[in-house]
Amino acid sequence: MILVVGGAGYIGSHLVKELVEKEKVIVLDNLSTGHRYLVDDRAVFVQGDLGNRADLEAIFEKYPIKAVMHFAANSLVGESVVNPLKYYQNNVAATLTLLETMLKYNVKNFIFSSTAATYGIPNVELITEDCPTNPINPYGRSKLMIEQILADFAAAYGLNYVVLRYFNAAGAHESAEIGEDHNPETHLIPIVLQHLLGQRNKISVFGTDYDTPDGTCIRDYIHVTDLAKAHILALKALLSGKKKTAVYNLGNGLGYSVKEVIETCEKVTGRKAVIKYTDRRPGDPARLVASSQKIYEELGWKAEYSLEDIIASAWKWHSRNVK
Ligand code: UDP
Repeated sequence: MILVVGGAGYIGSHLVKELVEKEKVIVLDNLSTGHRYLVDDRAVFVQGDLGNRADLEAIFEKYPIKAVMHFAANSLVGESVVNPLKYYQNNVAATLTLLETMLKYNVKNFIFSSTAATYGIPNVELITEDCPTNPINPYGRSKLMIEQILADFAAAYGLNYVVLRYFNAAGAHESAEIGEDHNPETHLIPIVLQHLLGQRNKISVFGTDYDTPDGTCIRDYIHVTDLAKAHILALKALLSGKKKTAVYNLGNGLGYSVKEVIETCEKVTGRKAVIKYTDRRPGDPARLVASSQKIYEELGWKAEYSLEDIIASAWKWHSRNVK
């Protein structure tokens, strides 16, 4: 059985939908930001907290867990700057309790959701995993701390792990049954689509004076189902013993500016956006684009969905879920 912590969240629920085809799955989620309706019916669902020993021990006592996949984290950069305690508490301290409980029950396989924010402001076209990690906010630091703890636990306790550093996750499951449902929503693609559905009266573009061809920030958008598939390959690599420890980027390897994303949303939906150009949002690097060559070479994964596919799938989901 595979324990998916945070399996009611955006990325976790998409992973669960793929994983239940292959494995028995139990989801632990406190529903602080996730939604019960996102969890596939074929998974066992437990509402509880990864920082709560009793909740964890009840699961490890009852089920034969062979691996843990950990998606449960707070992930808003701005919030992490004003409330770092929350981020170190939930993302670091609670994860330590999870790892401690795993070791107690001799569960040694762990897949960890990390982030491009661990790189800070990289000065390269394509970011490889050996680029320096210099996070510039508490969110990125909280993720990097766990990465470092994992390396120490591997050396000391024989923990096997794969760290997956996501770039910009977007899109929705092809069934349109599940998709991105954040409250508040801060991410570019859902904000643009909500606007094009009439749920917001305009969109803001944060900064037009970056050192990029059109002056707006460039990001690497990756479909959430591509992310889910990478997790399945990582799990297979751990369970088969092919990998003991690994760190991989997950991106498309293609950069799109904020303006290009908005234009693609207009093209896919056939609607026109009302745009307000505003100041930069603090903490945004000009360009974050992944090299995903390493995971391609080692596990055979590469992104399959284009930006248009990503937006079309998100549009299908958002249009079906007009509240
Ligand atoms: N962005 C924007 N307007 C918005 C939301 C985001 O201009 O309403 C920009 C943001 O500054 C960044 C890019 O879109 O350059 C992607 O932001 P998002 O929050 O989706 O992801 P992040 O890269 O911060 O993880």
